[in-house]
Amino acid sequence: MPASPRSPGIVAGRLDAGALAERFSDISPRLDPHEALVAADRCYFCHDAPCMEACPTSIDIPLFIRQIATGTPEAAARTILDQNILGGMCARVCPTETLCEEVCVRETAEGKPVEIGRLQRYATDTLMDAGVHPFSRAEVTGKRVAVVGAGPAGLSCAHRLAMHGHDVVVFDAREKPGGLNEFGIASYKSVDGFAQREIDWLLQIGGIEIHDGQTLGDAITLDGLVAEYDAVFLGMGLAGVNSLGVEGDDRGNVTDAVDFIADLRQAEDLTGLPVGRHVVVIGGGMTAIDAAVQSRLLGAEIVTLVYRRSQERMAASVWEQDLATSKGVTIIHNAMPLRVIGNGAVREMEFEYTRDGAGGLEPAGETFRLPADQVFRAIGQKLEGAPDGLTLERGKIAVTGAGRTSLAMVWAGGDCASGGDDLTVTAVAEGRDAAEDIHAKLMEA
Ligand SMILES: Cc1cc2nc3c(=O)[nH]c(=O)nc-3n(C[C@H](O)[C@H](O)[C@H](O)COP(=O)(O)OP(=O)(O)OC[C@H]3O[C@@H](n4cnc5c(N)ncnc54)[C@H](O)[C@@H]3O)c2cc1C
Ligand code: SF4
Repeated sequence: MPASPRSPGIVAGRLDAGALAERFSDISPRLDPHEALVAADRCYFCHDAPCMEACPTSIDIPLFIRQIATGTPEAAARTILDQNILGGMCARVCPTETLCEEVCVRETAEGKPVEIGRLQRYATDTLMDAGVHPFSRAEVTGKRVAVVGAGPAGLSCAHRLAMHGHDVVVFDAREKPGGLNEFGIASYKSVDGFAQREIDWLLQIGGIEIHDGQTLGDAITLDGLVAEYDAVFLGMGLAGVNSLGVEGDDRGNVTDAVDFIADLRQAEDLTGLPVGRHVVVIGGGMTAIDAAVQSRLLGAEIVTLVYRRSQERMAASVWEQDLATSKGVTIIHNAMPLRVIGNGAVREMEFEYTRDGAGGLEPAGETFRLPADQVFRAIGQKLEGAPDGLTLERGKIAVTGAGRTSLAMVWAGGDCASGGDDLTVTAVAEGRDAAEDIHAKLMEA
């Protein structure tokens, strides 16, 4: 008998290929030219536009929307990419509901913002489909920069450095570049291999080499890079995962949500990817939401996301929370894990309700259990493998200004660096700004 959502345990093929293809299809497909004109027409082209202020990469939003409105989407794409070279991915993954669209005057006045993210995607997709790379390199400077990490921060830094004429070598521990664009972002936000297509397009600038399977601290060392290159940028993200720290955390089928998501992103055939019947996800951010939603989409019968604080404290936006509940995920707030129960593998999870007390979060004295054949930990990532000698601040690489670390000629940006939100767009902004600072420093000499 074929597997179904009610099959016990962790099994593959709960749904057939057709159902899975539909469930994992593009969540917000590209606007067609007419839809884009209608959406652009809603913009007031505000002076001192609040949307632009809210964009971590400071894209000139009214300008690019005007360029769409006047029928020049390629020019609009250039406006976007000038500031954000991964504008195509950011158009797909930015939580616009908490950034540009939250402050759009149309949102304030009517509760319906201009669809900035979708317009950005329309412009950047139009340009990329035409195979155009609108930037060229300055005269080669002879300076060489090493970039560690081929995620959004590293790629953005590498592209800006290459534009200034420097030669860049990017080292990444994984077998493919892209960082979380390739291994983390939910499948339905980035379909049809977009992450790799965007990297191929970005590399058209020239002057960038990517070396996969090269881990800092293993195949390469920071001292070695500093000695060999004129400058180093660290964009290594957060490779470690926080543990639950409760009894039974090491039981079978209790795993990291990021690993499940990476497997899902790399799976060529989703019917071969096993998922539990009763899935419990612990956490309150995007990773937790993505693991929960994608478990449901794969066919898990009951998926429960448990977060220890109140709904308002969840890092995932209200849009993300609504997405999860619309897909049938149950969200329980104010409950913390107490122990994993099971003989070898997990069978149940025990939780205790919490409340806000004078000294912070405190147990409320009432416990409950959820049946679980698969549990995903999603309570945050942490920096792993930071080279010795770098000053850290709250577990991340301490930086000042445009990503300057405590070591001369070493910069850092993205999730691994102190300050800033852990968002794709912030990583792109920090990579770009560090590249400008590196360029200025290299040209002083
Ligand atoms: C599951 C998940 C979903 C997310 N969804 C969203 C979303 O929808 N929208 C959004 O804006 N943000 C989202 N984020 C956050 C976003 O993905 C990150 O903020 C962003 O990718 C950070 O970019 P980065 O370049 O700093 O790091 P990463 O993308 O993590 O890239 C770091 C790179 O460095 C490499 N590396 C690590 N250690 C080493 C080493 N020692 N040597 C060499 N290479 C190394 C890694 O292999 C990786 O390629 C999500 C995050 C997760 C985990
Ligand atoms: S705030 Fe809204 S209406 Fe004003 S420029 Fe930005 S997108 Fe247009």
